[in-house]
Amino acid sequence: MSSHNRFNAIDIALERARVAVNQPNELTSAFFGTNVFDQKAMNDYLSPVLHAQVAQIMQKGEALTRELAAHIADAMQKWAISKGATHYAHWFQPLTGRTAEKHDSFFTLDNKGQAIELFSADALVQQEPDGSSFPDGGLRTTFEARGYTAWDPTSPAFIIEVNEAKTLCIPTIFVTYGGQSLDYKLPLLKSQQFLQKYAIQVCQLFDPQVNRVFVTLGWEQEYFLLDEALFHSRMDLALTGRTLVGKSAAKGQQLEDHYFGAIPDRVYGFMRDLEIESHKLGIPVRTRHNEVAPTQYELAPIYEELNIAIDHNQLLMDLMDRIARKHKLRVLLHEKPYAGVNGSGKHNNWSLATDTGKNLLSPSRMPSKNLQFLCFFVNTIAAVHKYGDLLRASVASASNDHRLGANEAPPAIVSVFVGETLTRVLNELAQDGENTDTGVKKFINLLDTLPNLELDNTDRNRTSPFAFTGNKFEVRMVGSSMNCSAPMTVLNMMVGKQLKHFCTELDNLLAAGTEKEAAILALIKKYYLEAKNVCFEGDGYSDEWKQEAAARGLNNFTDTPTALDVYISPWAEELFAESGVLSRSELHAHHEVKLENYILQLEIEARTMEDIAMTQIIPAVLNYQNTLSTNVLQLQDIGFDKDIFKWQMSTIKDIGQRIQQIDRCCNELKQIRNQRLSIREQAQVYCDKLVPTMQTLREHIDHLEGITDDQEWVMPKYRELLIFR
Ligand code: ADP
Ligand code: MG
Repeated sequence: MSSHNRFNAIDIALERARVAVNQPNELTSAFFGTNVFDQKAMNDYLSPVLHAQVAQIMQKGEALTRELAAHIADAMQKWAISKGATHYAHWFQPLTGRTAEKHDSFFTLDNKGQAIELFSADALVQQEPDGSSFPDGGLRTTFEARGYTAWDPTSPAFIIEVNEAKTLCIPTIFVTYGGQSLDYKLPLLKSQQFLQKYAIQVCQLFDPQVNRVFVTLGWEQEYFLLDEALFHSRMDLALTGRTLVGKSAAKGQQLEDHYFGAIPDRVYGFMRDLEIESHKLGIPVRTRHNEVAPTQYELAPIYEELNIAIDHNQLLMDLMDRIARKHKLRVLLHEKPYAGVNGSGKHNNWSLATDTGKNLLSPSRMPSKNLQFLCFFVNTIAAVHKYGDLLRASVASASNDHRLGANEAPPAIVSVFVGETLTRVLNELAQDGENTDTGVKKFINLLDTLPNLELDNTDRNRTSPFAFTGNKFEVRMVGSSMNCSAPMTVLNMMVGKQLKHFCTELDNLLAAGTEKEAAILALIKKYYLEAKNVCFEGDGYSDEWKQEAAARGLNNFTDTPTALDVYISPWAEELFAESGVLSRSELHAHHEVKLENYILQLEIEARTMEDIAMTQIIPAVLNYQNTLSTNVLQLQDIGFDKDIFKWQMSTIKDIGQRIQQIDRCCNELKQIRNQRLSIREQAQVYCDKLVPTMQTLREHIDHLEGITDDQEWVMPKYRELLIFR
């Protein structure tokens, strides 16, 4: 890592030439997925019988025989070698939030010492990376430090190309020796199984043809870009991914002239390159545009099945990093790189689809099916009403704390935005007291208005954390740097549990002789009345909402340690255990890792800030103070009186006092960091003391930035970071 001084970095950034993009000669459709071991590759390398067996397993996530694994490994290897791959890796998602991979060569020596290429069933199915360096929340004791990765056949293998190096990557889960989850993928897959079980039961009430229900996810990835030289000239960006100090620029995002504006040349090159590489890997990215804040952008794909969509998002974040470097840029995935301008999120568009091709959250053109829509719709609202605090907990992190509730991203209060038409429908349902046959028929007729809903999709409410947007729910609380798995796992589990409850209650009503449609309607009505409190159509940023939400009994967890407590509350433990998503010990371990990540992130920030203050800020302002002092002495020497250097004197004093405050804050930070406490206590102390002290420290530094000679300031300023030319 080279380091630049500010003016040098600005010169480099301004003169940087655009890096050329290798534009393929073919259309996207011709090279889409060429680096994926997909149906086409399997068709080429497996016999029709074996291909059919594999396709079935991939779809249903069924267990795989050793024999079949051997055939697949063989086919995968032939395919990968034909593409120039020399190595393979199990690719997994540890609780650090990013991805990990350990590479092995296809090359080996056989028992006669002959050099051969080999990829066995064993190598495909299981690997043993050194697990000890990944967070485990105490699940592993040192004597069984091993972790295992195991193939997830529901997500296709792919080839990563880094210049000449090509590696076959196999998506895997990561578990302890005893099979306990150490990653995001295993709980996600389990949550999907749980939800699917009850979703199918509900679907079959309406359509016996449905055999499979799957979750769909379309994420929208926001990010910032900046020049590599500027990135390296700021210790805070290089070490923490965000600016810890910096006075806001005279021109920030007030003019809102960036949103949907023209994309700068160098960024355009980056985006194009990223799209090409994503498409080769089968990531169906489609939309790109500028975002609200200067130098902020967004990228979104066509939605996919949940597990694959998440793998693709994880892969994309790695690609973004790599391709940005190629273009001499750096991508900032941090939720809040710059104070005073919007941060970045990752909206998760979530829905349910059937193997009969139906989106269960899309109001049907066939009115008779709208009861099914309403059933999934209301049960989802009911789930958020009961278990919404878990959704909040699932997106808690030190960096997301800057966004949630900061009037640019959804509030930390979880509520559901329903929209005008559906609110009308639900209220109609709630008011109609009769559960008689005519009552039901009347309501079913009303449901006929639903197909117009997609057209009525204009009243989008951007301030809602959980919004219905015509044919899907949009979870808006997820942070830009996060693995989507945690919130998606929780949402699947919550809705699964609610559907299970619905199935039980429905069975009781049916057994008591109630007619099916009337029974379903009665339950939907009851659930809506119970859950109504969580529905909110107004401005989620307003103070009135905070008060009203409190009156409605909705929680507002504004910091991570408190939000995370929900994970280990008795009801949450029960829910995780009942759904099979995480056992009690796994849940506690995951909770502990989240707290550890929180503490670690803040600790790195505090230490970086202390460094910046002592080695970059104080020396710079002392120089300036010296200049002022020399000036005062000289003015005095030539006989001027005090009136003439009043401003100099007060500035010298101001600088002196600020330096004392900076020193005091740095000492305080050190003291807070050095306390020996339990992990939960430490998280709270960091939240209550470390974060506010860092804020005070920043205020002193930003004040000094505003009064110090620009030539003395070594860190690029906001106006320089936030403008691309
Ligand atoms: P926005 O206005 O918020 O950008 P869009 O309508 O462009 O919203 O869609 C955002 C995302 O929603 C896209 O990634 C899209 O693929 C996804 N999406 C659309 N339909 C579904 C669905 N049924 N399930 C999951 N995601 C979906
Ligand atoms: Mg969106």
